[in-house]
Amino acid sequence: MRRVSTLSTSALLFAAALAPAARQAAATPAKADPPTLGASAAAAATEATIVTTAPESTASRPFTLPFALAPGPDTWLLGQPYGNTTGAFRQRRSTYGASGGIHFGVDLTAPCRTPLVAMADGVVFAADAMNFGSAPHNLMIDHPALGYATFYGHLFERPKLRAGEPVRRGDPIGLTGDPGLSCRSRPHLHLEIRDLAHARKYNPVILVEADWDSLALVSSLGIGFQRDLDDPRKWQHLDDQPEARVGGPILNDFARPWPPEAR
Ligand SMILES: [Zn+2]
Repeated sequence: MRRVSTLSTSALLFAAALAPAARQAAATPAKADPPTLGASAAAAATEATIVTTAPESTASRPFTLPFALAPGPDTWLLGQPYGNTTGAFRQRRSTYGASGGIHFGVDLTAPCRTPLVAMADGVVFAADAMNFGSAPHNLMIDHPALGYATFYGHLFERPKLRAGEPVRRGDPIGLTGDPGLSCRSRPHLHLEIRDLAHARKYNPVILVEADWDSLALVSSLGIGFQRDLDDPRKWQHLDDQPEARVGGPILNDFARPWPPEAR
């Protein structure tokens, strides 16, 4: 996927504007010769190539979004991305200290009680296991066939699912809530993808099929990654972020951070 950072928004818009023209050019035959058997065979071969590459890309992103509703101002939008965000940097020794100091999930802003759906087939591991964090309510679903677990945090109420219960992709699994409990504070879903031991936390952007670039363009909270001035290009993109691990070392304790440390 294209890489996104706060600094490349205008470049992205430019690229998006160019894309339809590029597709048009690709679809236009180079010569105006009448169609021949050779040409249609070549077209068929091109189609076959496209068909065979599609399942691979789906396999590399095995999850679908946790919402049945399309994104938008009345439904849900990207809030804080996964990774080395400025917000996580400021709380690297408190809220996020237990998992490397980075935001170890992605926040999707949504009004309270927005319905959530399972992101793949799986089996419920636990509902309201608060050792996983993200009060007031949460849900962990294991996906043994994929080797991952999905975790849904700050839910409105205790999910009505029990441990061991199977779920299918798209099944309703709960309602979004607000860690501030008022539904007016900062209502959002904190979404994590972990390994089946629930210790490693991966970047959902590279595992969930979605148009993350477009979502980033209309992000409700803005997207800012903390910069390490000794390595200023490190971890500045949605899809280039470190893996977090429960109990792992703080990854973003930069000697020369930008923006500078709040005093
Ligand atoms: Zn979060």
